[in-house]
Amino acid sequence: MAQAQQTAKPEDTEVYTPVPPKVTPGKLEYKGAPSDAIVLFDGKNLDAWKSVDTDGPALWTVDGGVVTVKKGTGNIETKQKFNNYQLHIEWRVPANITGTGQARGNSGVFLASIGKGDAGYELQVLDNYENKTYTNGMAGSIYKQFVPLANPSLKPGEWQTYDVIWTAPTFNDDATVKTPARVTVIFNGVLVENNVTLLGPTQYIGKPSYSVKHGASPIKLQAHGDKSEPDSFRNIWVRELPNN
Ligand code: MG
Repeated sequence: MAQAQQTAKPEDTEVYTPVPPKVTPGKLEYKGAPSDAIVLFDGKNLDAWKSVDTDGPALWTVDGGVVTVKKGTGNIETKQKFNNYQLHIEWRVPANITGTGQARGNSGVFLASIGKGDAGYELQVLDNYENKTYTNGMAGSIYKQFVPLANPSLKPGEWQTYDVIWTAPTFNDDATVKTPARVTVIFNGVLVENNVTLLGPTQYIGKPSYSVKHGASPIKLQAHGDKSEPDSFRNIWVRELPNN
């Protein structure tokens, strides 16, 4: 077993077929946050966020109502922790994006951040308008767990939306999982994850499992280490939902 772990490669958990069908989304129109939403980013500042690496201020760039990843400064996450919620977030890959595969506008929304770096449950952000990669690593995927049901990706330079319903996992006293996490994702108005039951936090190498007991957790955004131009986000809000 130890030997199998040593030789495990990222490629082992990449899935390439079937490829989700392309869907052209309808017109996206932002109608604002509901009255009971907690606004996480309203275009003005990152007061609701902190740096994952330093616990200090989030150092991404806020300009023109938009926050843009500043790659050298690492991931950022909300100061507030959440259990179950509804999330709205908009993201944009730069129009002049370069790179291929996973190195083309890669970011991510960690639906629960459970530690430094990329620890957590990642909803992938990537340019997949005409960019091929493993299907369980496409935009709209729960990274390396669930392939999106469709590919409603818009062109780089256009704003895209995620609307997410997240049911956090719960754990027994002995740290085993009691009820696994579930998630529904609507991408540009198109259902791409239909109440899927997660196998555990995201694993880049190897199979996921619920090895870490955790409670309410921040929502985290990824500063991916690739060299492509950084993505931007806007209109981020969350509505807390009753505990399961
Ligand atoms: Mg990512």
